[in-house]
Amino acid sequence: MIGRAAEILRRGGLVAFPTETVYGLGANALDIDAVERVYAAKGRPAYNPLIVHVADEGAARSLVSEWPEHASRVARAFWPGPVTIVLRKRDLIPAVVTAGLDAVALRVPAHPIALALLRAAGIPLAAPSANRSTELSPTTAQHVERSLGARVDLILDGGPTQVGIESTVLDLRGPRPSILRPGIIGARELEPLVGPLAAPNATRHEIPRPSPGMLDRHYAPRARLALFDASEAERIFAETRVLMARGVRVGMLLVHLDDPGGLEIVRMPSDAVGYAQRLYATLHSLDEAGCDVIFVERVPNGPEWLAARDRLERASTPN
Ligand code: AMP
Ligand code: MG
Repeated sequence: MIGRAAEILRRGGLVAFPTETVYGLGANALDIDAVERVYAAKGRPAYNPLIVHVADEGAARSLVSEWPEHASRVARAFWPGPVTIVLRKRDLIPAVVTAGLDAVALRVPAHPIALALLRAAGIPLAAPSANRSTELSPTTAQHVERSLGARVDLILDGGPTQVGIESTVLDLRGPRPSILRPGIIGARELEPLVGPLAAPNATRHEIPRPSPGMLDRHYAPRARLALFDASEAERIFAETRVLMARGVRVGMLLVHLDDPGGLEIVRMPSDAVGYAQRLYATLHSLDEAGCDVIFVERVPNGPEWLAARDRLERASTPN
């Protein structure tokens, strides 16, 4: 299967494959037509660049025009793993991959199937999440099938993903690194390697955006998603009963709040890593169950919850 997948990729086709974060939709990153097929299959806007996946640090180095010392430290500590680094690109990376930016985002994924595929194909793979643009990222091969179906030439099934949300994106250009997209590896793990980070999301509302993954609405279920905190719980529970009586399907994700009884609640893990792992999978299953509204208890404020908070806020941003 890996051999066939590698052959499809070398010929310019699209292969969805598991990584430890979410499933990716891979194409030869050096083939303009193949990369354009990725944008078309996803309905992804041309201004949102793709992460390039490589087999090892050496392959990453060959795609960039500079490789600062701290890039090696990050690579040694976290690759293969859920950290993507952004560096100035070489000309061999086509502009379509980076949405015209002169930087490229690179990562070595920690999944045996992804690594086997990268090695067998022998090419860097541009691979965004394997879902239609703005939808929830897929954490199973079935999610990919439902979202992309015949738009992809082959789906490699590696079961449910471990991390469950997208990688941390770390910008290593310039003297002051910054996190462009939070993930399960946070500032606490990265700062010892790269020095103090620029304030997170300081640039979020600037145009042009430094990293288009900061598009406000992203990673969203079909259902309307609304966040609430403990002080609003009684009102939300009452509202839910009214909605249910009217035939509205309401899902509810709770972390710490007690089960009020009579509602369709999902108890989420109370640790940030466990929560991230379950988040998309849970939202996918509520979508599949036909939920119209999903109420989500706000997660705690600690730094380890930053990535989950980020994804929930984007998912609840109105269209
Ligand atoms: P995904 O949607 O998981 O494919 O992740 C792609 C995200 O990675 C983008 O939306 C950006 O946040 C980030 N990214 C990819 N390429 C670049 C780049 N060249 N410069 C800055 N950020 C990038
Ligand atoms: Mg995505």
